[in-house]
Amino acid sequence: MSSITIGEVSAAPGELKWGSATWAELRDGTKVHLPVMVMNGGKEGPRIHINGATHPTEQIGVHALHILLREKLSPAKLSGSIVAFPIANPFAQQFSDYTSPHDGINMARAYPGSKDGTLTQRFANFIWEESAKYSDLVIDQHENAKDALMFALVHQAKGSDAEKKAFDLARAFGLTVIKSGKMAQNMPGVYSASGGEDIASLAIQNGTPAFTPEYETTTDIGFSEQDPGIKAALTGLTNVLVKLGMIEGTIQQQTGIRVMEGDYVAWGMNVCKRGGLTRRLVKTGVKLPRGTPISDTYDPFGNLVERVTMPVDGYVWGWNVGVPPWWNWSVASGDPIAFIFQDESDASR
Ligand SMILES: [Zn+2]
Repeated sequence: MSSITIGEVSAAPGELKWGSATWAELRDGTKVHLPVMVMNGGKEGPRIHINGATHPTEQIGVHALHILLREKLSPAKLSGSIVAFPIANPFAQQFSDYTSPHDGINMARAYPGSKDGTLTQRFANFIWEESAKYSDLVIDQHENAKDALMFALVHQAKGSDAEKKAFDLARAFGLTVIKSGKMAQNMPGVYSASGGEDIASLAIQNGTPAFTPEYETTTDIGFSEQDPGIKAALTGLTNVLVKLGMIEGTIQQQTGIRVMEGDYVAWGMNVCKRGGLTRRLVKTGVKLPRGTPISDTYDPFGNLVERVTMPVDGYVWGWNVGVPPWWNWSVASGDPIAFIFQDESDASR
């Protein structure tokens, strides 16, 4: 048993420590810190890496980490360790933004980053090189605006051992499981892989099991344990710790939310041609044949200018109307409308 040091934060066995792992400076010399929480268990075991607020418009994962690490777990009783970056992108957090305004980078497409890169690339590189790379599991928490299906995305890695373990752990998490498939081919704008990739995708290619839980957020969330998104996060993260033998207990089913059994694969995002105001026409998680109208776009006077349809037989898991997503449900030409997934049997056809 030995101490775990992540940048400037060290935790001895049986300790939970937090602080600034590293920092970078803005143009006026203001330091921006990268917060880290390190729980070093009192017993040997695996190391889990968990990110929150990779997209700071998504805060469920941050609060879930606070509750899990500070209220639910006891470091002395933990077998193994948890390294958590509750706010993985503090640059975007300052602006309540999805991407970093300083360099325009989407943290979910920034890995492995570069230690000599721009602000966001430096923090991505630190997170990867100092923690994620040496972990036994990487979890990167995200969310979509209501109405959204909660699920776990597993990036595929040619059927590797890491991929198999990731599926087992994602199933234990308890949400609907969706494979990445050829999703990257249909990811426009800030979602496209320009200069880097998702930490979960990089980890699994590197041989570390990884997955991405996507929670549902609402406008009335208070971040208590009773909020559905927080409850799903805590149930899922606790299940993973049980599955890995890091804590005592039994795996609990996710309750009060829809969990779809079956084999699903992500298709990507469809985009609109016309700009305007969007009205959604369908629910998430409902099977829709190709060509089904899913949203209408209106001009500023209320005239219908485009009816957006399903590109394939499949389902909507959430809406990303506009870029960055879900500001006011309006779109410009080429903006994404919805995240779409399919039954695996339809996708392979
Ligand atoms: Zn996200």
